[in-house]
Amino acid sequence: MRKVIVKSSIELTRDQKTKLELGLNVAESEIDYIIDEGLIGGIAILDGDKILDATAAQDLIDMKKVADKLISDSLKKGIAVKDIPALLKENSKDIVESQLDFKVCGKVISAADGVVHIDGLSDCCYNELLLIGNKAYALAMNLTTNSIGAILLSGTAVEYGDIAYSTGKIIEVPVGDALLGRVIDPLGNALDGRPAARTDISRRIEFPAPSIVDRSKVKESLSTGILAIDAMIPIGKGQRELIIGDRQTGKTSLAIDSIINQRGKNVICIYVAIGQRAAAVSKIVKTLEEYGALSYTIIVLSTASDSAPLQYIAPYTGSAIAENFMYAGRDVLIVYDDLSKHAVAYRTISLLLKRPAGREAFPGDIFYIHSKLLERAAKLSKELGGGSTTALPIIETQAGDIAAYIPTNVISITDGQIYLEGELFKAGQRPAVNVGLSVSRVGGSAQTKLMRNLSAQMRLDIAHYRELAVFSQFGSSLDESTKEILNYGAKIVESIKQAECSPLSTLKEELYLFAIVNKYLKKVPQNKVHEFLEAYYNYIIMQEAEICRRIDESGELSAEDEVKLKKTTSDYVSAYK
Ligand code: ATP
Ligand code: MG
Repeated sequence: MRKVIVKSSIELTRDQKTKLELGLNVAESEIDYIIDEGLIGGIAILDGDKILDATAAQDLIDMKKVADKLISDSLKKGIAVKDIPALLKENSKDIVESQLDFKVCGKVISAADGVVHIDGLSDCCYNELLLIGNKAYALAMNLTTNSIGAILLSGTAVEYGDIAYSTGKIIEVPVGDALLGRVIDPLGNALDGRPAARTDISRRIEFPAPSIVDRSKVKESLSTGILAIDAMIPIGKGQRELIIGDRQTGKTSLAIDSIINQRGKNVICIYVAIGQRAAAVSKIVKTLEEYGALSYTIIVLSTASDSAPLQYIAPYTGSAIAENFMYAGRDVLIVYDDLSKHAVAYRTISLLLKRPAGREAFPGDIFYIHSKLLERAAKLSKELGGGSTTALPIIETQAGDIAAYIPTNVISITDGQIYLEGELFKAGQRPAVNVGLSVSRVGGSAQTKLMRNLSAQMRLDIAHYRELAVFSQFGSSLDESTKEILNYGAKIVESIKQAECSPLSTLKEELYLFAIVNKYLKKVPQNKVHEFLEAYYNYIIMQEAEICRRIDESGELSAEDEVKLKKTTSDYVSAYK
C-alpha cells in the first residue's frame, strides 16, 4: 500500500489537508501528518521514494551549500573577503526565488514589539494585509528595497523564519446596519459578548476622501442640544469640528450629549474610542443605553491595553463604517476620542519601524494621517445621494497649550474648534466652553435665521462682560452702566450652564435665547435663571402655540410674531416674582 508522510512546522488546517489529499490523489493510500518545528516553515512530502521538500529549513540548507561553494570558489579565485557578502546576497536570492515565489512569499527576519521585518515580498503594496504563517495578520507599512516593515494586527507568536504571504488585499471591516447597537474592535470582532454581527458587506478601512465636486455646501444644522454650542459655535451636517481641552474638562461628555441629542433625528452615530480605559467606555455604553441612544450608535473600541497598531487603525475603521452609511444617503455623526492618543500610537509604530523622528518625536507624516482621516467627513452632493458624515475629533491639550504640535495640526484641518477651558470647568461653568477661543467656520449658514440673529448679540454680550469683568477686579468704584453690564453678563453666563445628558430642543434653545438676548432676565436673581427659563418656556408653548409652530417650521420669527412674543414675554416677566 502506498504510504504518504506530510511534515509541516505547524498543524495544517482541515481545509489545507483536504486540498493536499486531492492534489496528491491519495484515495487508496495511508497518509500521516507529522509536525516538526525544525522545518521552520513550509511542508515536506514523502511519497514512497519521492521527496518533495518545500520547507524553509531546506531553503536554508540549500543556501548554505551555495554559500559554502561560493566562498571556497571566491577564495580560490583570490576575491577579497570583504566582497564576499555582496556576492552571497546576489546568489542566495536566486536560490530562494527558484523555490518560493518571492513576489508573494517572504520570510520573517525579525519580530519584536509588534513590528516584523520581512525579507522578500517584492510585489507588496503599502498598507497591504499580510498573512504570517497561519497565525497572524500584519499590515505592510515600510517598503524598502530589501525588506518590508509590517505591524502585527492579530496574533503575537511570530518568530524568525515564519513565512509571510501578501494577500493582495487592503484591510476590510464588516459594515452595515447589523452593527448598530454593537461594540466592536477595530477589526470588526464583537466585544459586547454577543455573537458576531451578521453582515455580508465589508469596506476597506482606507478610502479616498470625496473630491470637491462630490461635495455640497454645509447648510443643514446638526444640533447638539447644548445651548452654548448650538447658539455660538453651531455645527452643520458634514462639518469637522474639533473638541479641544485639557484632561477632565468634559470633552467626552460633550460628544456623548451630542449623540444622545440625535435620538429620533435619523442620524447614525459612531463613537470611536482610541486608547481609552475599558471601564470608561463601558460607562459610556451604559449611558447611551439609558438614554435610548445605543440603538442608532456603533462603538469602535480600542483600549489603552490594545497594541499600538490596533489603536492606529481604529479611527479608519470607524470612518469606513460611516462611509458605508454616507454613500447610502444617510447622515452620520462620528466622534474620534481622542486623536492625541491616536498620534501617540502612530508615533510608537513609526519609531519601532525606525522612521526618522521629527518634532516632539512624531514622524513627518503625522499631519497626513490625521488629514486623510478627517477629509473623509463630508456633505455629499445631490448626485451622490446627499449623505453626510459630521466628524467631532477630540484632542487633549497639556496645560491649555493649544499651540503644541498635534493641536495646531488638527485645528488647521478642521472647520473650527470648541475650546473647553480647565479654569472655567473648575469654576463650575459647565460645559466649560471658552467662547472667545472657539469658532465654527462653516456652521453659521446651517443655523436657523432666528438662532443666528439672537446668538450674534449673545456672543458680543459675553465678550463685553468678560472684558469688563477683568477690569472691574482692579477698580473699586464702578459706574451704573458698567455694573449693569456685569450684572446681566453674569446671568447670561449662568444661563448657558447645562448639566450632562440634558439636551434642549431647538425651539427651547431659541426661546431661551429670545429671553436672554432681549434682556428679560433683568428682574430674575442669578441663582433662579434656570428655573425662570424653564417656566418661561412652558408658559410660551402653551400661550403662543401658533407662534412656536411657525418658528419650528420656518426657523424664523416674523416682525408681527416678534411684537406679539415680546408682549407676551413682558407680561410674563412683569408678573414674575
Ligand atoms: P478625559 O480627559 O479623562 O477624557 P474629558 O475631558 O473627556 O476627560 P469627561 O470625562 O467628559 O471629560 O468629564 C469629566 C467629568 O466632568 C466627568 O465626571 C463628568 O461627569 C463631568 N462633567 C462633564 N460635563 C459636565 C457638565 N456639563 N455638568 C456637570 N458635570 C460634567
Ligand atoms: Mg474623555
